[in-house]
Amino acid sequence: MTERFAPPPARGCSTTPVLKERGQHEVFCGLTGIIWLHRKMQDAFFLVIGSRTCAHLLQSAAGVMIFAEPRFATAILEETDLAGMADAQKELDRVVHELLERRPDIRQLFLVGSCPSEVIKLDLANAAERMSAEFAPRVRVLSYSGSGIETTFTQGEDACLAAMVPVLPASDERQLLLVGALPDVVEEQAVGLLEAMGVGPIRVLPAPVRNAEYGVGPNTVYALTQPFLTDTHEALSRRGARHLPAPFPFGEEGTTAWLWAVAQEFGVDAETFARVTEKPRARARKAIAQASENLRGKSVFFFPDSQLELPLARFLTRECGMHAIEVGAPFIHRAVMGPELDLLAEGPVIAEGQDVDRQLDRARAARPDLVVCGLGLANPLEAEGMTTKWAIELVFTPVHFYEQAGDLAGLFSRPLRRRGLLKLEAAE
Ligand code: SF4
Repeated sequence: MTERFAPPPARGCSTTPVLKERGQHEVFCGLTGIIWLHRKMQDAFFLVIGSRTCAHLLQSAAGVMIFAEPRFATAILEETDLAGMADAQKELDRVVHELLERRPDIRQLFLVGSCPSEVIKLDLANAAERMSAEFAPRVRVLSYSGSGIETTFTQGEDACLAAMVPVLPASDERQLLLVGALPDVVEEQAVGLLEAMGVGPIRVLPAPVRNAEYGVGPNTVYALTQPFLTDTHEALSRRGARHLPAPFPFGEEGTTAWLWAVAQEFGVDAETFARVTEKPRARARKAIAQASENLRGKSVFFFPDSQLELPLARFLTRECGMHAIEVGAPFIHRAVMGPELDLLAEGPVIAEGQDVDRQLDRARAARPDLVVCGLGLANPLEAEGMTTKWAIELVFTPVHFYEQAGDLAGLFSRPLRRRGLLKLEAAE
């Protein structure tokens, strides 16, 4: 019934052969997720066990926020740790004791692995278990990896949420779980729309504080708000919860289809659904039409980076009039991406994984109007005269649901407008 609100094209991409790329990656690491995760979990602390490079990455990504009371830090592995000359576990214990003594507000501590801690095979899972037993019930200690080895930057959030799922209590309550760390204002909009239809109770993963947590079980149904939460999806399935497959809530169409999937599960009738969504849908359509004026008829090429590529390609082609040449995604999880592939019209190359040189060759040959890629590729491509959009901005900016749909289109039209202005100035 998704078709009722988002009719699929005559031929979607679900049977399009996928070009599998297994070469060099050019992506940020999963530590980046700490920047948005620490804002969502108010009693959590993220302790990265890493190198000075990891500490610099966090500080520069966090920018001005390091002046606030910090809820993340890096325990630096020195050369002696890396050479196996010191007992890194003992040192970690000392750092955690000091931290928890100094910060009684911390209720959840995440030990976040990095490339160096993985290279020396520091066992953070065991350390977390041991510390959880020691600091219970005041503090729960969990671990996950934010390492950049063979991963993408959005996998940090996925790994963090997946680590939380096994420790949620068991529950038989019939409930909806919204999964993904959205900005508060966006989350409130989503919850508000669903509650206005009579859907509830609604829980959110991650919960804002540990005390607000709930249980999960066979009567939990969950809707992902981010396409990169595949490990979390698997972890919830293992707890008996049921996934609601749907397109992601980007753009008017994606948002409507996502809400409709939830509404149907909770027995909301079409009339109620239309009454609740009519006005925000109209606002979203109007905002997209305005913001996408200079996108119509233009071509777009996605390098694999954020895992948002397929839903964004669907939004840009179906709602903004763009034409996709290639849509590369780091991973394509069929159960999660199936509804997106159904809606994306046949035509673009669908690629999974990265081989940066080959993809650069294809982008140069195609000369798309807009390239969506990571920071590392954006500057060289701009220098070659191509217009780029940094994929990472899409996870730092509120872009989900109706009220942000115009801003989402605007994020893609701005670089094209800027390039147009630069050309005008050069011509004068
Ligand atoms: S985790 Fe790896 S990729 Fe990320 S900053 Fe540390 S060393 Fe660099």
